[in-house]
Amino acid sequence: MTLHLGLTGGIGSGKSTVAEVLTRLGAFVIDADALSRATTAIGGAALPAIAATFGEDMITSQGALNRDRMRERIFSDPAAKQQLEAIIHPLVGHQIQQAALNAEQSGAICIVYDIPLLVESGHWRSKLDKILVVDCSEATQKSRVLLRSGLTLEQIEKIMASQASRTERLQAADYVIYNDGISLDELAAQIQQMGAQFGL
Ligand code: ADP
Repeated sequence: MTLHLGLTGGIGSGKSTVAEVLTRLGAFVIDADALSRATTAIGGAALPAIAATFGEDMITSQGALNRDRMRERIFSDPAAKQQLEAIIHPLVGHQIQQAALNAEQSGAICIVYDIPLLVESGHWRSKLDKILVVDCSEATQKSRVLLRSGLTLEQIEKIMASQASRTERLQAADYVIYNDGISLDELAAQIQQMGAQFGL
């Protein structure tokens, strides 16, 4: 039996780090962000529909999405964001399902679904056996992201406000990793311990 495990956490919680450790422990991790980026990279599956919807000039000469142009378009026409998502999301959803099916058929013990807005969207919840939430204080989220990215505090707070609240995430959780005030080694040790419950 394969365990279908959803993984979520706010920006800076340490979700990507947890996904890496789970991969090392033998889980099959599906990274929805990476799949999503690939749909608009060179030769990406979303490009024909993007060209048909927004025009050929949305595609660079190399054959990828012209991200700057799309950003400008979305800025001046908010409906464009929904149109773009309506193209990309079903493709990514299909790829996630396909990847999960392949992993299951090749005997994966644990499939980890690293999907943004897992709690917010509700769509994936019914397909998952359990949800693992990576949690930390909001102050820690901010300081980690400030250190790691070029974002300003204001931009970080805006992203955090667009995500589920800590309470909402914790309500959805079957397992919680409290990644605050612990070292990366301690985090890895905690995940290893928890992984035993997932058959890893
Ligand atoms: P997320 O994917 O949730 O945005 P990341 O896993 O990318 O977060 O972690 C954000 C940053 O914080 C990374 O640079 C990561 O190495 C660091 N980090 C995460 N957890 C810890 C920890 N327990 N101790 C030290 N640094 C951490």
